[in-house]
Amino acid sequence: MPSTLTPLLECRACPRLAAFLDDCRRERPGYHARPVEPFGDPKATLLIVGLAPGYHGANRSGRPFTGDYAGVLLYSTLHRFGFASRPQSVSADDGLQLIDCRITNAVKCVPPENKPETGEIRTCNRFLASELAASPEARIILALGLVAHNAVLQGLTLQRSTCKFAHGARHVLPDGRILHDSYHCSRYNTQTRRLTEPAFHAVFEAIRADLKTKFQWRLTSASSALSAAAVTKN
Ligand code: SF4
Repeated sequence: MPSTLTPLLECRACPRLAAFLDDCRRERPGYHARPVEPFGDPKATLLIVGLAPGYHGANRSGRPFTGDYAGVLLYSTLHRFGFASRPQSVSADDGLQLIDCRITNAVKCVPPENKPETGEIRTCNRFLASELAASPEARIILALGLVAHNAVLQGLTLQRSTCKFAHGARHVLPDGRILHDSYHCSRYNTQTRRLTEPAFHAVFEAIRADLKTKFQWRLTSASSALSAAAVTKN
């Protein structure tokens, strides 16, 4: 599949989304307004899968969860748990580094009103499937929301009946990968307290426990990476 894929940045397979991006480029010349590529180490152990770029967030900055409210809780949590060199992601060139972590989306183009259609989710799954196939090192996957959960299953050619989405759920997949579920860290979910900071942190506690017990991941490795990043920067 990867060898036959249209390069992500050139993809126009979803006419509605391609037209929406055309309009955005005309109206907002400073915006990225293209499909948004994953961010972070392609060989990372932890892969985080969101829904789709936000219009004024990733669609503007070109980096997932960057530029709008959706990334506030995510990046502060990644930093708290040793997966990011800083607690905020400001722009695609701000020097932030992820540590043994990669962030992607189920749908790579911003959808109107943040709502991709079923066919668009299905069409774009070719890219997520390719990312999953190309990164066997991603032993732990965090799905942010039901759409991301189902997209991961589709990308791994698993039936939805394999496991059901629930916030805080932990699923061992047939190939040994572990899928964690969380409500999406959107502004709506956090402001309505459907997702609280402690509840989100609890998901990362479970992920960190898996990394330490199953994958010999040590916090010292994160600390070393952070130190190396600081030295490189200075
Ligand atoms: S959503 Fe995915 S498949 Fe659809 S046009 Fe964008 S990159 Fe292509």
